[in-house]
Amino acid sequence: MTAKILDGKAVAQQIRNELGPRVARVRERLGRPPALSIVLVGDDPASQVYVRNKLKTAEEAGMGIAHERLPATATLAATLAVVRRFNEDRTVDGILVQSPLPKAMGADAEQQVFDAIDPNKDVDGFSPISAGRLVQNREGFAPCTPAGVIELLVRSKIPIEGKHAVVIGRSDIVGKPMASLLLHKNATVTICHSRTRDLPAMAREADILVAAIGRPAFVTRDYVKPGAVVIDVGINSVTSPEDARRIFASYPDRLETFERRGSVLVGDVHPDVAEVAGALTPVPGGVGPLTIAMLMANTVKAAELRAR
Ligand code: NAD
Repeated sequence: MTAKILDGKAVAQQIRNELGPRVARVRERLGRPPALSIVLVGDDPASQVYVRNKLKTAEEAGMGIAHERLPATATLAATLAVVRRFNEDRTVDGILVQSPLPKAMGADAEQQVFDAIDPNKDVDGFSPISAGRLVQNREGFAPCTPAGVIELLVRSKIPIEGKHAVVIGRSDIVGKPMASLLLHKNATVTICHSRTRDLPAMAREADILVAAIGRPAFVTRDYVKPGAVVIDVGINSVTSPEDARRIFASYPDRLETFERRGSVLVGDVHPDVAEVAGALTPVPGGVGPLTIAMLMANTVKAAELRAR
């Protein structure tokens, strides 16, 4: 069997196209487009790329954008001050503070910053109010990555109701909200994590398997029931030649990418899973583009709620 590849890029484009008329309506009602403010602290290279992509996509969607950059030496107080300013600014609909914050800011800095974001502007869905609303299936903002996975499943016409979904990973930003969203779609949900016993056997129970672990090519074909739908949330950069050769032994084009760039992206799912799964998201081009599309959708929704 060769898995059907679920095209995240195409679905993300579809979502962004549908936002066009909604952006125009907000513009009519508020006299300005929906507006997203992004706070970036420090100079983590991956964060800079993520922020650049988010700003570019927002701009292409005709949204208003503000970008506040703080140095890596910025204090937690200074970061909180920026968040409070955006909270009070009536021309800002959505606020996103790019994670991770510099380690020097302290272990609970991220939590304090997410706590400070006005829940009505929390387009990343990371605040405790948003998390509570999601668990209770109330109106609010779901974290963009798991919300994007649901959009991909629904728009790819993959049935969720009554299916057994297994989520590997229990983070606050992917694993837990993913489990809540699947539950609200009437799946039977199992959450697995680093202390789960006999993970391959648990995973093989899944009709829908979501991997959100952060370990390159961790989920191998023995984790997958033949025909299962496999969603690969992981984005890992492989930089060691041994790892690249081991993972991509049968994929000369990916090895060629590695030789050319010195690194290659791989998900949490081994590429050989495509021979067992019924459907699979690629990395890159699977869940990643949906995350940004859902950020745009959440920002438009925040603006619509303000306009109401
Ligand atoms: P995290 O480190 O916060 O959580 C990882 C989870 O995996 C933990 O809950 C842990 O229990 C589980 N885990 C770790 N080792 C395990 C093991 N050996 N067996 C079973 N479970 C194990 O990571 P996260 O923020 O949830 O992100 C997960 C992955 O998704 C990362 O690769 C990240 O880069 C990626 N990600 C992608 C997007 C996107 O837009 N596609 C967005 C967010 C995160």
